[in-house]
Amino acid sequence: MLYICATPIGNMQDISLRALEMLKNADIILCEDTRNSQRLLSYHSIKAKRLVALHEHNENEIAQRVIEWLDNNMTIVQISDAGTPGISDPGARLCKVLFDNGKVASPLPGACAYISLMSVSGIVNNEHLFVGFLPSKSSHRLKELAKYNNLTYPVIFYESPHRIVDCLQDIATSCGIGREIVIGRELTKMFETVKRGNAANIIEFITADANQQKGEFVVVVLPDIAEQAELIALSNKDVEVIDLLAKELPPKKAAQISAQILGLDKHFVYDYIVSTKK
Ligand code: SAM
Repeated sequence: MLYICATPIGNMQDISLRALEMLKNADIILCEDTRNSQRLLSYHSIKAKRLVALHEHNENEIAQRVIEWLDNNMTIVQISDAGTPGISDPGARLCKVLFDNGKVASPLPGACAYISLMSVSGIVNNEHLFVGFLPSKSSHRLKELAKYNNLTYPVIFYESPHRIVDCLQDIATSCGIGREIVIGRELTKMFETVKRGNAANIIEFITADANQQKGEFVVVVLPDIAEQAELIALSNKDVEVIDLLAKELPPKKAAQISAQILGLDKHFVYDYIVSTKK
């Protein structure tokens, strides 16, 4: 069997007991970078039988050898440098080659940077789009961002420290400085930061402190609530009722009453009130 194994995204202890057991017993561990993997294995006192490099430049070639090893009943575990393989990391092509050869891999689940941020971002709806890395060139990035501007669900990006400020500025240019964003920096590590605010606040926060520009980032761009309102076609009458109540009552109460009168979702109405007040 080939196991696709998640490893920590920072804190070395974020790895399952089953994953450690499998790494201990594997005939071969496929590593994105054997030196990085060795650090994890040493931390957990695992003496690997054999490490083989599998990275984006040799994935197809190694995948063919994996088929042979599996035919010889070997146990193989694949890990990337951090988090879940196949998520902006090697592993997906390997699994495709297995399918093409009538085989399947088995997951050893665990840490993933964007799922970790989503779990603390206070986003109620499940629907979202994970994009991964945006293009490195600003003009290409802006073109790509334009595709996600009008979505009605959050869009998630990975970003590196040397591009984070430029990337956030492009998000502000493309989506507006008022667009709500959640950033997760150095998740599970000593200097973890999770921050939610509009694009202008987040850019100010990050540019004001050079330390906040260091490390690894996940960026979640929330949908534009005003556009959402148009998409679910709030009528002028709906807006009139909501605005009237929002003027007289606190947002939560106004949302509750207007949602009841108009037959709308109270969370949606609340988000609409808060965003229009801003
Ligand atoms: N496979 C990994 C996963 O499951 O999340 C992602 C690997 S991708 C090559 C590396 C990117 O993931 C980083 O540039 C950063 O955007 C994000 N990332 C990884 N670890 C992170 C962490 N501890 N905090 C925030 N972002 C992280």
